[in-house]
Amino acid sequence: MIIKDLRITHRNIPLERPFKTALRTANEIESIEVAVVLENGITGKGAAAPTWVITGDSAESIQATLLGPIKQALVGKDIAHFQSLLAAIQSCCVGNTSAKAAADIAMHDAYSTLLGMPLYSYLGDRKPLTTCMTVGVDTPEKMAADAKQAIADGFQRLKIKVGSQPELDIDRIAAIEEAVPDHVMLRLDANQGWKPKQAVQLIEQMQAKEFAIELIEQPVAAHDLDGLKFVTDHVSIPIMADESLFSTRDALHLVAGRYVDLLNITLMKCGGISKAWKIASIAETYGISCMIGSMMEPGLSVGVQHTLQLPTRMSRILIWMHHYG
Ligand SMILES: [Mg+2]
Repeated sequence: MIIKDLRITHRNIPLERPFKTALRTANEIESIEVAVVLENGITGKGAAAPTWVITGDSAESIQATLLGPIKQALVGKDIAHFQSLLAAIQSCCVGNTSAKAAADIAMHDAYSTLLGMPLYSYLGDRKPLTTCMTVGVDTPEKMAADAKQAIADGFQRLKIKVGSQPELDIDRIAAIEEAVPDHVMLRLDANQGWKPKQAVQLIEQMQAKEFAIELIEQPVAAHDLDGLKFVTDHVSIPIMADESLFSTRDALHLVAGRYVDLLNITLMKCGGISKAWKIASIAETYGISCMIGSMMEPGLSVGVQHTLQLPTRMSRILIWMHHYG
């Protein structure tokens, strides 16, 4: 079945409240949605979210990539060559992982529809996954109130953004611990906001206070892999790579060198479902567990990540993060 067209739509979706991390404050979700149209009318949909401070991809660059090299790689081709076309999306230009992710998702959607099954069936079995809600970084009092609200909304696990004004981080977690039931486990995400020695010191303080911390994500700068390893080697709480992990090559380097204990796979960083599978396979080979994260994304791409079932061995910590990596 020939791919007849590739179309895009640009939408801004306002948030109910601003979302803050150590890297940015977002007031809306910006979404570039892509439709891959087959000659029989079947349409596969995907979406990309611009995140300048993480991927470097803007709305303009995503649109230009989709309507330029990616469209050229797909339109007029037979989707029967599905795997070759997924590879063509990745090789048609360097970088631009968000646009590649959107096209990769849309191609998976079109192909599974052509095969007569929903995408979640095509991707694998349906095991229940644990979803957690992210609490944006703010004052200890505001974060405690947000955490309390998330628990009231039914979430059993919370991801807590820290790393902006690190001197407040102990008080932030103390306030949240006070506000939520004892069984609630916290996942901290510093979004590169700590220095290596500072990270070890803060984590040791948190452990001394017996905070219920399950893992700590990206404590130090993305490029500082030695710093990341220093933290991993000096604390007992598992350390997870997020901004340090984009490509399969990054994944291989991180797990082979034991720079981290865990990986956070995000479709906008790695370039889509096909790349996420490869990273998961690398992690599985080394016995490293993974989490599926997301950016500030629309339901279209978030939903895909929700149904992405990675290798079974990793499911013990395979967590679907409902809101924002
Ligand atoms: Mg993160």
